[in-house]
Formats: sequence, structure tokens, C-alpha cells
Amino acid sequence: MKLIYRGLLLSLLIFTFACSSLSEKDTADTIFINGIVYTVDDVNTQIQAVAVKNGMITAVGETSTIQKLKGENTKVVDLQGKTMTPGFIESHGHLMGVGYNKLELDLMYVKTYDELVAKVAEAVEKAAPGDWITGRGWHQDKWIERPDNMVKGFQTHDLLSAASPNNPVYLRHASGHAAFANQKAMQLAGVNRLSIEQLSSQVEGGEIIKDDLGNPTGVFTERAAGLVGRLVPRDTEEKDDQALEMAIQECLEKGITSFHDAGSGQAFIDRLQRFKAEGKLGIRLYVMLTGRQPELLDAWYEKGPMIDPDHFVTVRSIKLNCDGALGPRGAWLLEEYTDRTGHFGHETLPMEVVDEVSAKGLELGFQVCSHAIGDRANREILDRYETAFINNPEGAKDHRFRIEHAQHLSKEDIPRFGELGVIPAMQAVHMSSDRPWAIDRLGKQRIEDGAYVWQDLLKSGAIIPNGTDAPVEPVDPIPSFYASVSRRTLAGLPEGGYEPAQKMTRDQALRSFTIYGAYAEFEEDFKGSIEVGKAADFTVFDKDIMTIAEDDILKTKVAMTIVAGKVAYDAGLK
Ligand SMILES: [Zn+2]
Repeated sequence: MKLIYRGLLLSLLIFTFACSSLSEKDTADTIFINGIVYTVDDVNTQIQAVAVKNGMITAVGETSTIQKLKGENTKVVDLQGKTMTPGFIESHGHLMGVGYNKLELDLMYVKTYDELVAKVAEAVEKAAPGDWITGRGWHQDKWIERPDNMVKGFQTHDLLSAASPNNPVYLRHASGHAAFANQKAMQLAGVNRLSIEQLSSQVEGGEIIKDDLGNPTGVFTERAAGLVGRLVPRDTEEKDDQALEMAIQECLEKGITSFHDAGSGQAFIDRLQRFKAEGKLGIRLYVMLTGRQPELLDAWYEKGPMIDPDHFVTVRSIKLNCDGALGPRGAWLLEEYTDRTGHFGHETLPMEVVDEVSAKGLELGFQVCSHAIGDRANREILDRYETAFINNPEGAKDHRFRIEHAQHLSKEDIPRFGELGVIPAMQAVHMSSDRPWAIDRLGKQRIEDGAYVWQDLLKSGAIIPNGTDAPVEPVDPIPSFYASVSRRTLAGLPEGGYEPAQKMTRDQALRSFTIYGAYAEFEEDFKGSIEVGKAADFTVFDKDIMTIAEDDILKTKVAMTIVAGKVAYDAGLK
């Protein structure tokens, strides 16, 4: 008894000694103190301070405890009562698109067709004759007034062509599933009343929209957009570098520390590797290989997944595009569109490809991420994933296959996500932007049963990684966080939210942008929560997004973004 007591006393003495004389190797590189820190650990511990060393979290707790880890060279970041969360993860975006949105005409905030034309006219004045005018981000359903002349729900090119008679114009739709060209561009592409039938037959799954007289209206959906798009001069290496730099900076300013790129090719991966080697890759990238290039997939099947030990550029998943978007009525539905009889949308790749890629993915360790918006596309993919899992139970043990968007589901398919372990990677802000007109496409019943059903999916046992699909929406996570908990448009309508039973709680919304995103890229042991041994990726907000009034969420600003322990962005807020 006495012996035990003496031993205890001795160890207590040693412990006290160790605490009072920290050697340089025990002190932190940086300590973050005086914050409201949401750890997102299993029990939602809330703390005040974090210590970081070599880019990793070494201690968490009260400010007074963490201050003991301050050495001579320790940097102290006083959060001054601001709110810190794990670094936000954008789980579905297109990084080069974010950059190019900054480089080209940004039509995302245009409110009318006239305003779009005015923007193009401005660009024409600065351009040399014959130069291409390119832009992206327009969405006719978001305009506050409809142009007089509409064909199949889209504007026609007359005004645009009048504003730019000598410069070809090519403007991508916000959804990425349609494009709008002027007369000059169509002339260069050989698209006219006489050629339209023949060209249409070459672009299966796409449409060259024409008016009553058979003239092309300037709008091209899906693959048809390539008829004009292929003439647009290719981006140069320098321009691509510039776009990537701008995109990374944009992410950091919006509090994003990790980004899932939803479908890119080898040139993008090479560029990321080079940026990493040059120390310019400020955020962590998880890249899905685009399924649009079979030779790319073959090459990667050959070498297998690339899992970065530094956790900055990992390639271990494949993106398949299985249907179109709801706006241009490309989403593939089980029943016809409410606002176009006899029209069901369509698949944008043969469904056998989903079978093949799923089997290959399970065999070789690639996750499969399939874009599906309509209920038919979602069901087809769930069916095909399920078959693949049954055929290869060993490979399917920890598959984490995803469906990107999973927007409109048949009621029967909702529980299948939880049962099969398929991850619905959803972007809550799409609900805010699309719900007001989505009901025209789908009707009341389908909206209530299966549109953006976050709570039903979570209850099924599924996890939902959140995002913005940038540049379809700005890469800013705040509007998507707001949409997740309010189910209102960004103008705050309707009071109480659309289908309020499907709202996420604040905790679920925070998880969707942190630990769930990490899980969706097999990284939940490395990041996504603030715990000892995990990466020191943090986002700091000027307001407490977990407790402020719903209406104040949209006013919240990112104060700081920290990646691997380094302050990569500081808004300089007091
Ligand atoms: Zn996307």
C-alpha cells in the first residue's frame, strides 16, 4: 500500500516537472486561443483553443491549458471570440470552372436577358474583330423577367446576334448542360436551317433547339453544344495556370480547405502535381477522373489509385455523367415532365458503362461517383451499383460509391442509400435556387415525396457530403449551409422553408461540410474534425453559425482559413 503511494507520488512529481519545463520539441508551432471551437467529434465537444505542430493538431482544450504549450517560437493566433470549425470541404465542384468563371464573362449574377446582351456588347467593344467572346453561368429560370420570344423554355439568339454581328459568341449555361451561341458562331459551325436535321442526328442525347420555321435558336443542349464549342480556341497553359491560381485563392477566401473535383483529365492532375511541387497548391484536392475519356480510365486502371501520403492530391475515384439537369429538362425521369408532355429527359451515357466501371472500380479500388438528378437515373445507378456489390462482396466491403446530386428520388429508392452504403453527394444550395421552378417540372407530389429529401436520407443511415457544384453556384459554403437548415431561397422565401420536415439540423449541416465530406473521400481519420492527431485545417467565421438567428447566417463572413496549420487566408476582421 505504502509502496503504491510512493510510486504514485513519484510519477506525479515527474509529471509536474515535465509540465513546467517544456522542451522545444513539446511546444506548439501555433496555438489558436479564445475561440468558440466546434470540434465535430463524436460527442460534439466544444472547446476554446487548439495547438498545432507540423501541420497536425497536438492538443485541444481550454485557452489556459493550451497556452502552456506556448514556447519561444510559438505563433499565437487570438481568435477573439470568433467561431472555428474543422476546415470546410467542398464535396462537389469543378475547380478549373471556378477559375475560368473569373477569367471569362461571368453571367452568374445576370438578372435578365437584356443584361446578358449588354455584358456581351461591352466585351465586343474591347475585342478585335473575329475574336471569340466566351462566358458562363447564365440561367434563364433565374432571370427576373422572361424574354418575349421563348422556344422550349429558352431565349433565342436574335438580340445576342444583333449585339455581336462579327464576333462569335459562346456562352455556357450555369448547369454546364447547355450553351448559347450567336449567329456568327453558328455560321462558323455550319449550323443552319438546312443542316440542322443532319447535325442533330450526330449528337445523340443532345438537342439543337429550333423555332417553328426550323431555324436554330442558338441554344444547344448536352452533346449538341460541342458542335459550336469545339471551335472555341483552346485555353493556353498560362491561362490554365492563371485560372487555377484564381480558383485556389477563391476557395481560401470562402473558407474551403479541401475540394472534391467532380471530373477532370490528366492535364489537370499534372497541373495540380506541379502546383504542389512549387508550393502553390493552397488547398487539398480529391480528384474524380472524368468518365468521358475511356483512354484516361484505361491508363488509370493500369496503374491503380494514387493516394497522396501528404493528403494534397489524391486520385481514386471515377465520375460518370448519367443524365442531364432539371432546368433544360435533361434529368432522366420515371414519369413524364409535368411541363412537357411525353418528355422524360434522357441518359447521357449508355447504362452498361455504369456496370463496367462499377465492376472495375470494386476490383481495382476506385470509388465510383455517378451524376444522377432524375429519379430514373438514380434508380438505374442504384440497381447497377447493387449488382456490382453482389458480384464482388470482397471489393464492396468499403466501397463508398456515390451518387452526385441525387436530387429527385422515387420514394422507394430513398432507403436504398442507407442500406447499400451509397453516398448521396448533394448541394443544398441547389434547392434554394431551383426549388421555386422545379415544381413546374415535377409537380407537387414528386417534389414532396422525393426532391432534396435530406432528412429522409439521413434517417435511412446515409451521410450527405455538402457542396455547391461551383461554378454552377459560387463556391461559397455559407449559402449552402443556410439552405441546408432553412430550406429557403437566398431571398429568404418562403417563411418557414420549402418542405420543412427535410431541413438539416445545424449539427447535420456542419457535419455535411466537414466530417461527412472527409468520409466521402476516405479521409475521416485524417481530417473533418478537430481532434488530436488530425490535420490542422480550420475555418474561422465572424459569427457563430451554430447559434445565430437563421436570417444572420447569410451575413456571416469567413475571417480566416487555415490549411495544415498555416493561416492561408486572413480577412483582417477585427
Ligand atoms: Zn458538377
